[in-house]
Amino acid sequence: MRDIAEPKGKGSNAPRRTGLLLVVSAPSGAGKTTLCREMAHTMPGLQYSISYTTRSPRPSEVDGKDYFFITEPEFMQMVQRNEFAEWAKVHNNLYGTHAGFLKRTMAGGTDVLLDVDIQGAKLLKKRFPDGIFIFVLPPSMAVLMERLRERRSDTPEEIERRFRVAREEIRNFSDYDYIIINDEIKKAIRDLESVILAERIRITHADRDWIREQFLK
Ligand code: 5GP
Repeated sequence: MRDIAEPKGKGSNAPRRTGLLLVVSAPSGAGKTTLCREMAHTMPGLQYSISYTTRSPRPSEVDGKDYFFITEPEFMQMVQRNEFAEWAKVHNNLYGTHAGFLKRTMAGGTDVLLDVDIQGAKLLKKRFPDGIFIFVLPPSMAVLMERLRERRSDTPEEIERRFRVAREEIRNFSDYDYIIINDEIKKAIRDLESVILAERIRITHADRDWIREQFLK
C-alpha cells in the first residue's frame, strides 16, 4: 500500500489529514472500472476499495483484485456482522464495501476510491457527508450501447437490461459533486486526477491545528 500521507519523519510536526473518500458511480459501460483502476494504479496516496460480490467472475477477472467473489450465504453473514459500510443489490447480484478497510485506510491518511452504484453512493453520502461524489457519463447513449455490446461476457438480454437501467441511473446525476464525461480515457483520467488534487488541498481537509501552530503562534 502506498501511503504518501504519512508525514516525513514520524513524530515530526508535519501536517496530518485523514484520507478522502472518493465515490465514483456510472452506468455500466461508461468506462468507470478502467478509469478507477488506472487512477488507483498511477496516483500516489490513493487506494482502490475492492468490493465483495456474489456475481460470478468474468473471464478476465481475478478474485481479490477485481472483486472478492463470495457466495450469497457468505455475503449475508458479513451483512449480519455489520461488516459493510454499504451494500446493495445491483443487476440481481449483491455488492458491498468493506467498512473496516475504509476506516483503516482513511485513518492512515490514504485516500480511498470506491466504484459503487447509485444506491451505494446514496448510503455512503449519509455515512460520510464529507465524501466526494463523482459521476461518470459516456459520451452518448449510442456509445454506451456499443460498449455494452463489445463486452462479450454478457447475454443480449443482460445488455438490454443494463442499457435500460443506465438511463434510470443517469437521472441521479445532480446528486453528485462532479461530472466526468468519458469520451477519451486519457482526458477522463486527467479530469479525475484534477478533482483529487484539488480536493486534497481544500480547506475542509486541511490540518488547521498544524497551520495555527506553524504560522500563528
Ligand atoms: P459490475 O458487475 O459491472 O462489475 O458492476 C455492476 C455495478 O455494481 C456497477 O455499477 C458498480 O459500480 C456496482 N458496484 C460495484 N461494487 C459495488 C459495491 O461495493 N457497492 C455497490 N453499492 N455497488 C457496487
